[in-house]
Amino acid sequence: MEVSSQNFTDVEICSTIITSGLQCTTPNYPGCNDEDGCDHCGTYCTPIDVMTEVCWTFTVGDGGGETGTGTSPGGNAPPPPGSGGGGSGSGIPPADPCNNTPDNPTDPYTAQSNVVDPGNCPPPTGGPGWVPIEDDPPLFDPNNPCDVVDSLLKTTAFSVLLHKLRDSTINNYEIGYSQLNTLNPANYSETYYTGQFNSETLSVDVILNYATDGLAHNHYNSPDRLHNFSAEDIYKLAYYWSIGKINNLSTFSYTVVTDSTSYTLMIDDPAAFISFAQSWFDSKAHFYAFKTHLYTNHGYAKDGNSIAEDERTFLNALQAPPLNGAGLKLFRGNKEMNSFTPIKVSSTGQLVTNPCN
Ligand SMILES: [Zn+2]
Repeated sequence: MEVSSQNFTDVEICSTIITSGLQCTTPNYPGCNDEDGCDHCGTYCTPIDVMTEVCWTFTVGDGGGETGTGTSPGGNAPPPPGSGGGGSGSGIPPADPCNNTPDNPTDPYTAQSNVVDPGNCPPPTGGPGWVPIEDDPPLFDPNNPCDVVDSLLKTTAFSVLLHKLRDSTINNYEIGYSQLNTLNPANYSETYYTGQFNSETLSVDVILNYATDGLAHNHYNSPDRLHNFSAEDIYKLAYYWSIGKINNLSTFSYTVVTDSTSYTLMIDDPAAFISFAQSWFDSKAHFYAFKTHLYTNHGYAKDGNSIAEDERTFLNALQAPPLNGAGLKLFRGNKEMNSFTPIKVSSTGQLVTNPCN
């Protein structure tokens, strides 16, 4: 083989690989304490795209010096410049820039043709010089209330809704919304409800004509307002389920917003919630017993309670026998209402994170 007057150049081919990853957005949160700073990513991590550029270089001829190489038996005419290819019957594998293969893989300096990036190479699947990044398994589990709340907060509609509810607490009536397709922004819709001006009951009646994916209401700035859910609110949640107005217990969100607090209840154990709803709200007497359990026995919403005391007493009542959690999980919104944390009362009486399984 003879190579004459061939110019060699280095060709670099690069490809960008996009993989999904997680980034802890609240590394200082006390719940985030493992080695990478985030031990339950379901709530405290944000999906990110990791872009990795992979490049590789090889040396090829410029295509101008391929005459007279004689690699093709039978004296084939030389290929036209720039045509690529090593000539038929040469026995040399064809150039394959997608696989970093010049047309003479055993000796790139005798490569016979241009190797140019065709622009449509698939991402490399392996090879020296780079480490493949495994794709994460699917991040969203519709049965994980932390995943659902995180997903809700990433939708524009839910954030806007929360702020509409808060902005409206300066009025003297409650408002509420029922929501459809909370997790599917393209098909999302909401219906607005308003309570009576100066209503005695402080509450808004939501009459649902169809099953919903979420309900949210506010407690306006009355001196008598609760900073968390009322016994009536819990009763209504059970009632909406009982009349078939909740599309999916696992992804349904139930939210209350005041001027300074925001909470979402999720149903993290549908069977336990159904049992709770059936046994506590099947009669007026049972509903009164529930109110007594909440307000009297556990001191929820007692005059002078701080917001933290209301949280603790509300959760104590929910967690204590015979409710034993009622299948519910309470999420507390931060001041900006852009992050909601599941909370519970610990065995020592502290308010702590209540991580999702
Ligand atoms: Zn309410």
